[in-house]
Amino acid sequence: MSKNVKSALVSSKAPKPTTFSNERSSHHSVNPDLASTSPTTSKFYINLQDLVNLEEILSGLIIVFQQDKSASYEIERWWKITDENSIVRIDNLFQKEEVKECLREAIILEAVGVSLSGFLDYSALGNVETKLAINDLLELIHENFLVIIDIVLHRLPNHCSTNSWAVTLQAITFTKRKNKCSKYENINVLLSQNELIKGKIQDVAKEHTNPGAMTSRTARFLLYTTIQIVKDIESFEVLGARELLRTVINEYYEPPALNTTESIDSDIEIPLAEAPYLPETEEDIYTLVLDLDETLIHYYEDGDEGGFLIRPGCQEFLEEVSKLYEVIVFTAGLQEYADWVLDQIDPHRFISYRLYRQHGLPTGNFYTKDLSRLGRNIERVIIVDNMAENFRMQPDNGILIRTFIDDMTDNALLELLPLLKEIALKKGRDVRKALKSFRDQMMRAIARGDSSPHLNLHLEDDF
Ligand SMILES: [Mg+2]
Repeated sequence: MSKNVKSALVSSKAPKPTTFSNERSSHHSVNPDLASTSPTTSKFYINLQDLVNLEEILSGLIIVFQQDKSASYEIERWWKITDENSIVRIDNLFQKEEVKECLREAIILEAVGVSLSGFLDYSALGNVETKLAINDLLELIHENFLVIIDIVLHRLPNHCSTNSWAVTLQAITFTKRKNKCSKYENINVLLSQNELIKGKIQDVAKEHTNPGAMTSRTARFLLYTTIQIVKDIESFEVLGARELLRTVINEYYEPPALNTTESIDSDIEIPLAEAPYLPETEEDIYTLVLDLDETLIHYYEDGDEGGFLIRPGCQEFLEEVSKLYEVIVFTAGLQEYADWVLDQIDPHRFISYRLYRQHGLPTGNFYTKDLSRLGRNIERVIIVDNMAENFRMQPDNGILIRTFIDDMTDNALLELLPLLKEIALKKGRDVRKALKSFRDQMMRAIARGDSSPHLNLHLEDDF
């Protein structure tokens, strides 16, 4: 399958967050595989949206690593998401001891691998072997995570398997997993991959802890810790291993500069602009909100010079959607930066309005794009963004698009066009229903084994 098809498959659907929870939902004990039995685990739930985000982070980590860029942004996101929810206790979903064991090890090894990937400075060391070993390690960890997703999906109660985050996860495993196997073989695959990961971690650690290695004193602390964890992994609980890694990192780690525009100057806070952001318009207009960084362009720095790559198809996409939608770019970037980019990529002014950092709600490390502040009918607004966190307040209006860095064969924008045209031309009352219909159709196509489930999607006339 081509990379294009993969990217479009992951991008051309709209996720809806569903916390699959036996605490928050009313579906207590609906499925013996999932229901918690002990009082200490009764609050366990798993947020499928976080699994989608984590997969994206792990994919992104491989990319930035291969480009010799700082991965600190991805790594901080990884710690943040895994800290804030129960993914670290994913083994609680299962009752069989061997399954729990295997998942516990996989999750600990992921924490070790993610920590290591951010800690060693390969370009300074100039150590090609280590770089290759870490690259293999990250690929294995990503593949392991896809197996975990698959295991979780097979344990979802029937009423959860059709929610759109589950569908997104199905599409991700379908397109990205290298070694597909039946659900009965998943645990064996995870077991053998865990062993491969341990081997890679030990290779990296040995290389850097021998007396002649040019590893900094602080890096060595982390390396010794990872060796200790890997050697004695049976005795570590997930939380204990994480705490140990965190302690070492917090004590010795000096984070390098962040590598994305949205976070480079996240310390610059600007007062929130007054809503509504947009002037009044006709009631039945459709509004398309587009993210900028890693959705339309990718900004990079080369020495003192800043530049950006335009996502393939961007110009054609803007021209086509502007015929049917009021097009708005909504970025968490600063106005000066965004205007500099947009003046270049949109000389014909297909974009009607520009919203910047001052229009985003500061929420933790992110500026959430609250569509209710636009001054538009929410039934007529669609947002396309490469980060689901950005539209978490109106997830039903969102289309998650694959992150664009520098893949010049990427076709994700153009592959969204038929879907966006269909919605606007059929003039449905509520875009959220249309997006749901597309998701349902894609899910049926995936179930049929269709290799391009994002193609040939259609809406009923009265959606
Ligand atoms: Mg973005």
